[in-house]
Amino acid sequence: MTHFSAWNILKNGLNNQKGWERQWRDCEPKTKYDIIIIGGGIHGLATAYYLAQNHKMKNIAVLEKGWLGGGNAGRNTTIIRSNYVQPGNRQFYEHSLKLWENLSHELNYNVMFSQRGHVTLLHSPSAIDAAARRYNIMRLTGSDAEIWSLAKLKKIIPHLNYSANARFPILGAAVQKRAGTARHDAVVWGFARGADQKGVDIIQNCEVTSIERERDQITGLKTTRGLIKVKKVGFSVAGSTTLLWNIAGLGELPIESHKLQAFVTEPLKPLLNHVVVFGVGGTHFYISQSDKGGMVFGGDLDWYKSYAQRGNLPIVQDVAECAVSILPCLGRVRLLRHWSGTCDMSMDGSHFICKTPLKNLYLNAGWNYGGFKAGPGAGWYFADLIANDRPHKVIANHDLNRFDRGINIDERGAGPDPKLHG
Ligand code: FAD
Repeated sequence: MTHFSAWNILKNGLNNQKGWERQWRDCEPKTKYDIIIIGGGIHGLATAYYLAQNHKMKNIAVLEKGWLGGGNAGRNTTIIRSNYVQPGNRQFYEHSLKLWENLSHELNYNVMFSQRGHVTLLHSPSAIDAAARRYNIMRLTGSDAEIWSLAKLKKIIPHLNYSANARFPILGAAVQKRAGTARHDAVVWGFARGADQKGVDIIQNCEVTSIERERDQITGLKTTRGLIKVKKVGFSVAGSTTLLWNIAGLGELPIESHKLQAFVTEPLKPLLNHVVVFGVGGTHFYISQSDKGGMVFGGDLDWYKSYAQRGNLPIVQDVAECAVSILPCLGRVRLLRHWSGTCDMSMDGSHFICKTPLKNLYLNAGWNYGGFKAGPGAGWYFADLIANDRPHKVIANHDLNRFDRGINIDERGAGPDPKLHG
């Protein structure tokens, strides 16, 4: 496979771009693998990559029912940050952010990680206090965090709605400068390419339709491309987790699948050089500008359970109201596209990377609407779990039994009620 370098770009430029090779093989499934990861999103591909890279595991396949990145990995608003504070989450997301910081070099593939800064708007004195507590914890645990005064915010992002009569008056902002965005499909392709280079078979158009078991052990996976025998299996299917869990005959999970929509406008001249977020009084809104100029934004979940992947008009209205309330200059901008993905909402807003009731089945799920930033970290810790058959101490409480032990890793302060995660 071509190693990307300045020399290669020059050489192939002079050669009419004819020297480039395919970035990963189009594999036929073998009859048997040591490890199969189900799901070809960022998490599944990162897991396969780190299994091969960090643990020198071999004979691995990733099975994807559609195309790589056709799920949430290719549908999200790409916000990357590590401003989490709960034990375990703090270390996990900081580790993931550090992996992002070196990912383009690690994979020899430009994932277009842009550390443009993540700016959370603050609308009341109590919100400033709460943000100060959260951001102090981040600083004390080795991350970066700042609180900006209103004067500083106005200077840096002058065109927000600072009017005293604004629906959501702005008093300041909590900022993580190392946070930012990345190009979603590039990350998926980068991990696919990296995993393939280390011998992982990546198999698209291969849906797992049933699971063969002997007592508490999986022996094989029935797929649309035949039966595959396997020693260890990892589920990394985000919004489809509950479906696959049912196929495995494992009953209920503390996860609900909900739609989350995203939006992009026509391209504009440079307008916003940060990720801007606000959530107050039932609103929730986040926006950034893509490298092509489109304003990319999103809001709340749809309030009903669904596995659909298309948008709807009530959420267009809701999110457009949020957009113009905070950036009135967007009022006459045309919406280009909107779409949806299926989010795996856990009951406390935190993830699961854990063993399961089946001895050789491992679970990676419950990413709510924050799993893109987690991608490299989730792959790293999930690979560590599968390779060593025990959880790393950072994810020791991120298992399915934590609720039985009275542990809610509650980032949103919303309690174990998925309706409140919005
Ligand atoms: P996916 O990409 O969904 O991968 C799972 C794959 O499994 C899919 O490709 C699917 O086809 C495959 N699959 C399912 N069932 C089977 C089967 N039976 N056999 C074979 N394959 C199967 N996170 C952030 O951090 N920042 C954000 O700004 C952000 N914004 C978001 C905005 C939207 C609109 C959405 C929907 C999500 C957002 N997220 C965000 C969340 C993030 O996208 C997800 O948490 C993360 O991408 C999930 O992991 P994944 O990429 O591996 O999942």
